[in-house]
Amino acid sequence: MFENLSERLSGVFDRLTKQGALSEDDVRTALREVRVALLEADVSLPVARSFIKAVESKATGQAVTKSVTPGQQVVKIVHDELVNFLAGDNETPGELKVDSPPAPILMVGLQGSGKTTTTAKLAKRLKEKNGKRVLMASLDVNRPAAMEQLAILGTQVGVDTLPIVKGQTPVQIAQRAKQQATLGGYDVYMLDTAGRLSIDDALMAEVESVRDVTKPRETLLVVDGLTGQDAVHTAENFDSRIGISGVVLTRMDGDGRGGAALSMRYVTGQPIKFVGLGEKMDALEEFHPERIAGRILG
Ligand code: GDP
Repeated sequence: MFENLSERLSGVFDRLTKQGALSEDDVRTALREVRVALLEADVSLPVARSFIKAVESKATGQAVTKSVTPGQQVVKIVHDELVNFLAGDNETPGELKVDSPPAPILMVGLQGSGKTTTTAKLAKRLKEKNGKRVLMASLDVNRPAAMEQLAILGTQVGVDTLPIVKGQTPVQIAQRAKQQATLGGYDVYMLDTAGRLSIDDALMAEVESVRDVTKPRETLLVVDGLTGQDAVHTAENFDSRIGISGVVLTRMDGDGRGGAALSMRYVTGQPIKFVGLGEKMDALEEFHPERIAGRILG
């Protein structure tokens, strides 16, 4: 997911660690290369700038340049700052608020982002890892195929889906899901909202009314990681209008750059909770800032 960036950075840091003594200028030159590598990974300019500034203020002091292993010190500072940029406050990777049953989880995002697939992947995970009884419901009244897709995936992962009733509005379906989840003793009910090709008022108003009747414990935005900075803008938009509690970045199996992952937290203030790494129902990983930083730095 970060192959290109990782390769570029290992080149920079190999040189730095082999060099022995380092001047402040050496450090600055290396950090300029890191900045270029970040920009090439599609990290947005303000994020790259702010990252380099934070590293520079710690890495150009005497404690580093006069130390016995200055190169390694710089790498450690970069590592710690990466974790800082990726991590949410008090976030436990992979944890979702699903106490007080039935806990509603609202899944939002643009069409084609991987929302339905991710809903089923998460339901499977909640069932198998957390031992939860999950009910899924599709609110995509304009696309019967999307509703059927969720039902098919539900059968595949052994998770119940709310029976499809034609002619209901998304709010009516959400209310029926809540009722069914309560009566049926489910721990969690997941609402797969309709997507649009672009953000528009109608989409947002629809999601808002579903949010207002269900008061979700988690509102997860699913975004296509391949869209880079657009993914970050989408998250900003959804967060300002709906209020999200986290992000799932999909298609990270196809992205060697990873810029969206690096910018998301800084720009939106929202944590990435999971990443999608393929079409299969198991291809979902918790987002661990520490591990990711380790992976990026090799
Ligand atoms: P929706 O319109 O947002 O509900 O999108 P879907 O869930 O229908 O997904 C659209 C396509 O993306 C499907 O073919 C999925 O199998 C595929 N997809 C979803 N997540 C991932 C992922 O993490 N990696 C890859 N490679 N494909 C994915």
